Amino acid sequence: MRVLKALCWIVGLLLASALTVVAAWHSQLQHLGTHGVIALYFVLAAALAIPARFLSLAGAYLAELLLVGWARSSLRMLWKPSASMRMDMVTVVMQLLLPQRHIGYALSFGLLYLIDVGTRHLDQLSMTRLLPTWSLQVLCVIVFQSCLRYWMHRIEHAIPALWALHKFHHSAESLSLLTSTRATELARGIEIGLVFAPAALLTNATVPLPSMHSPWFAIAVVYFVYNTFFAVNGYFVHSNLSTDYGWIGRWLLVSPRMHRLHHAKSASYHDKNFTFDLVLWDRLFGTYAACPPGTDPMTIPLGLEDNPFNFHDGLGGALREYFFKTYRVFWQELRKGLRAWLPRPPQALPGSPST
Ligand SMILES: [Zn+2]
Ligand SMILES: [Zn+2]
Repeated sequence: MRVLKALCWIVGLLLASALTVVAAWHSQLQHLGTHGVIALYFVLAAALAIPARFLSLAGAYLAELLLVGWARSSLRMLWKPSASMRMDMVTVVMQLLLPQRHIGYALSFGLLYLIDVGTRHLDQLSMTRLLPTWSLQVLCVIVFQSCLRYWMHRIEHAIPALWALHKFHHSAESLSLLTSTRATELARGIEIGLVFAPAALLTNATVPLPSMHSPWFAIAVVYFVYNTFFAVNGYFVHSNLSTDYGWIGRWLLVSPRMHRLHHAKSASYHDKNFTFDLVLWDRLFGTYAACPPGTDPMTIPLGLEDNPFNFHDGLGGALREYFFKTYRVFWQELRKGLRAWLPRPPQALPGSPST
């Protein structure tokens, strides 16, 4: 019986990982598939003709369930959802099921539309082609874009109006796989906008992938493993896994524990662990924080001290918070910031004639 259970576990985990990888790396695998390397991909893609993100989310749910068990799983949290969880569900529905591109254009006040139009002409700006080999190109792009995302995230915490938008992501009082999508379309537009111009300086590789017979093919394999890891890890850093991945998580790649601390209510963790992928940036710029020895990371309270969200009852209230309250909070913070920034009119001196 124990052998059967272990076998089910292994098969389930392999299947979940395969689904996640296939969904997340749709375009890249297709590229390899045209060279006849991964014929199996076409069979899977044809059999599982479901939107890629939905499939990858389902795979991540299954993998988390197998790793942490039912009692701690994100799947169980869907059963009797808390107010925080209902907000996560609204955001994921917005992204997965609705024709989000056009709704996103409206909800970001046209910002996402401008970015979409702008990206069509960005290739001319890119300096990637100046780098001689495919390996050098992908390495520089990975490091450069990772650094940009670190600073984008740090700026979101430092500027009050941007924090007013980003705090919606931090308003989750419990983490589940859906929290990874918890953001408004306006926040998404501004996040892309912040890295838009600098990211255009180094875009995707322009040199073709090395062939299987090239000595550089090993680097291509490392690159795909790296990207696959992050496709899965994007969900797992908001999961109920408590692992820190050992020395890899402490020095190389962001772990679920590291990002959980970033979501902690406590001020000592709040402006820490900004990275989305490489730990290098937090180490380099002094924002790395680890869980003190003997502390269970799963017991650290999450969310915000002054949380304006998760006060609703039922789905109607969750929709009101998503569509109205997020914008109201942003507007209030923006006004407060502008008032502090604009010069004040001179005060009339006591005894001076009034007009
Ligand atoms: Zn943050
Ligand atoms: Zn997060």
